[in-house]
Amino acid sequence: MTFTVVGEPDTSARSKHPFGRESEVRSYSRSFPTTFVHAEGSTMTDINGRTYIDFLAGCSTLNYGHNDPDMTAALIDYLSGNGVTHGLDLQTTAKAEFIQTFVDLILEPRGLPYRLQFTGPTGTNAVEAALKLARKVTGRSNVIAFTNGFHGVTVGALAATANRQHRMGTSVALSGVTRAMFDGYLGTEVDTADLLDRLLSDPSSGYDQPAAILVETVQGEGGINAASASWMRSLSRIAKKHGALLIVDDIQAGCGRTGNFFSFDDMGIEPDIVTLSKSLSGFGLPLALVLIHPDHDQWLPAEHNGTFRGNNLAFLTATVALKKFWHNDDLANDVRRKGQIVHQSLSEMGKLIPGSVVKGRGLFLGLDVGSGELAGEICRQAFASGLVIETSGAYGEVVKVLAPLTTPASQLLAGLEILHQSVQEQLRPTVAAG
Ligand SMILES: *Cc1c(COP(=O)(O)O)cnc(C)c1O
Repeated sequence: MTFTVVGEPDTSARSKHPFGRESEVRSYSRSFPTTFVHAEGSTMTDINGRTYIDFLAGCSTLNYGHNDPDMTAALIDYLSGNGVTHGLDLQTTAKAEFIQTFVDLILEPRGLPYRLQFTGPTGTNAVEAALKLARKVTGRSNVIAFTNGFHGVTVGALAATANRQHRMGTSVALSGVTRAMFDGYLGTEVDTADLLDRLLSDPSSGYDQPAAILVETVQGEGGINAASASWMRSLSRIAKKHGALLIVDDIQAGCGRTGNFFSFDDMGIEPDIVTLSKSLSGFGLPLALVLIHPDHDQWLPAEHNGTFRGNNLAFLTATVALKKFWHNDDLANDVRRKGQIVHQSLSEMGKLIPGSVVKGRGLFLGLDVGSGELAGEICRQAFASGLVIETSGAYGEVVKVLAPLTTPASQLLAGLEILHQSVQEQLRPTVAAG
């Protein structure tokens, strides 16, 4: 069989190109038009033997890099011993060890009382369950979600997602959500939490009483917008005042990306519900979790179910990830150090682009270059030079750095150097024309 594996696939009806048969809906493969064969740590290798530094990391699904050797070993061991791979939501040793480790290393040290609900395996499944539960607990249907928020693309979660391109993917009514303005949406002068409080307090504002306030502490897809701790505390207060549950969607910002396991650690809040997915399994295996304050665990048995609730292989790797990276503060401290390196480097690049801004916190950072076209060109150039990196934001105007948290410092610097050169490369014609 011969086919082209580099470049845009031939999509004609009789195409021999395997990806020519893949739906037009494919997306990342368009930005990185090659075929990948291997991945290890923060390095990916394509079919031509070219290596790339991975600053996309599955949109923060690979916080510990590709194919962590300890996780691989645990998987091989478990599989060769015929450990249970699929078990609906049956009790298995893999699940028991995950729950116990999560409680011991993550929940107990923080004094968090959460129960764990394993939903279907993707992030949007966790968000659907969280919204459904909040509505059930409060008997209300309205959910407050924010400008630039991203929560998934199944209909319930999509209603809470702000991006028009995603919303236009369905013609059913996306209902039950009222949009509020995220921190900083109206500039630094206006406290949008105060505004939300006023709207919810005013019986004639047109805002229905909310079941929940659903928020990301750092908006990943929406442009790496980081909410301040004080704004998050206000939201928490507002939620209580108005009888709504606070749901933190920590699917992208959680699992260490911001320099703590939860993105809201050290903010002085205790959300009623937290959603986790992306890097939870640590290996890129699908796993989603809803953390529920016991008072709100009002599900009836089997009321919300699913065939793939809890993925035993993912439990296994998630347990290894917790034991390896969260038994002390080394990774967290390392993330903060590397965050400073990336922040400084992006600031240097920003000096080349008037009006650009560095956004985010921890190792969840991006450079807003003010134009989707420019950001896209910078990422294309970077890919041509061996760096996998993507954009985010309403216009794709933010070049986002989502390097695995475990990227060795030398490789982090090498990736940043490629990015810096790509920025310079893009600005060259403009400079020449001026
Ligand atoms: C990715 C993401 C989701 C959706 O997760 P899927 O696995 O793509 O369904 C939800 N919320 C946030 C914050 C995300 O980043």
